[in-house]
Amino acid sequence: MTAPGLPEAPFPKFVSVDEARRTLASLLPARGTETLPLSRALGRTLAQDVAALVSHPSTTESALDGIACREADTLNAPVTLRLVGESRAGQPFQGEVEAGQCIRIYTGAPLAAGTDAICPVEVLEDIDDEQVRLLRPASPGDVRPEGGDFQAGEVVLKAGVPLTASRLALVAALGHAGVAVYTRLRVALLSTGDEVVAPGTPLQAGQVYDSNSVGLSAMLEECGCEVVPLGHAPDSPDALKEALRQAGGADLLLTSGGVSMGRYDFMRDLLIEHGQVSFWKVRMRPGGPAILGRWNGLPVFGLPGNPVSSLVVFQVIVKPALTGQQLRTLRLRAGTLFKALPDKTAFWRGNVVNGEVHEYARQGSGVLRSLSDADALVIVPEGQAVKAGDSVEVILL
Ligand code: AMP
Ligand code: MG
Repeated sequence: MTAPGLPEAPFPKFVSVDEARRTLASLLPARGTETLPLSRALGRTLAQDVAALVSHPSTTESALDGIACREADTLNAPVTLRLVGESRAGQPFQGEVEAGQCIRIYTGAPLAAGTDAICPVEVLEDIDDEQVRLLRPASPGDVRPEGGDFQAGEVVLKAGVPLTASRLALVAALGHAGVAVYTRLRVALLSTGDEVVAPGTPLQAGQVYDSNSVGLSAMLEECGCEVVPLGHAPDSPDALKEALRQAGGADLLLTSGGVSMGRYDFMRDLLIEHGQVSFWKVRMRPGGPAILGRWNGLPVFGLPGNPVSSLVVFQVIVKPALTGQQLRTLRLRAGTLFKALPDKTAFWRGNVVNGEVHEYARQGSGVLRSLSDADALVIVPEGQAVKAGDSVEVILL
């Protein structure tokens, strides 16, 4: 699709965010699978459903420290019950508890035969070693039933979910020491620009520290990718060609800078003149100038150099394509106006205040601290302004 008024290009121009994401995903290789120990699987994507090898809890147990007894004995609390033993985690009480009796019990300890309720220590008074007084009725709600979390054989995690810290803990609780995940994509990363220098060196007037390499590398790690750092190249076609050659074995080359409308935007020129371009420019702000193409078969995604643009395009296009995950959004009430752009989806930075999202004051694509200060990217569809009080879709940062 070519925007009105622009000369016909031999590739799509001004694609939608969805189309950009789908096209990038279609250029990435099919993923293999491998089995990893849980300690090495953080951030990876689950390749198979995972079923529980055991039930959790494995027996009906107490959720609290206190006494276990029969609820019926305690309905007229305060009452006094006779202590006949104890159940500890890993060392259950062996006998049967009868009417008028109770046992001491601790969190995670199995309930004894005959008991159906727990009274926490906070509402007990010890009378002596053999008797205890309950100030309130015991509650069956403080009993954790066998299999209440999950049952043996139950599929608890579905293939395709990202392995977060809490999901890895769950896989361990299900009884697995390892997990089948998709193999990592190898993503080469290059920043471009004559003015771009590594942090830690003195800055001359007109130069800027390379923040994109750091932010994008960290985001790639979070996506479970293997990063091949290619460092930085100046605005020179020969230097860029050399970097493109070095990226040869990767599954994707991600670049930043040099894809916009300027005379020295050589990454754009190289891809258009000597590569195969899938699209140039996306109907979004920030991030409009992004380009996708291939160079000798290698998929190349060129992000704009502006730091906010490159990180937002990564978040909404590259990350979902790399991980196969849908963009996670939720709806909030707008506390301020979010203006619409006639032909672009806007991703404005916002802050969440008392459950409402408010516009962050400085929305420029060069204002990197806006991403750090903001809580959310507010998605404003093409031409549809969001007024204070409207419901709006956001991506939490
Ligand atoms: P460009 O897309 O190359 O026209 O760059 C747009 C803006 O982003 C310019 O102000 C650049 O100085 C800045 N920029 C480009 N690359 C980086 C980078 N790696 N880190 C921080 N800023 C950058
Ligand atoms: Mg540049």
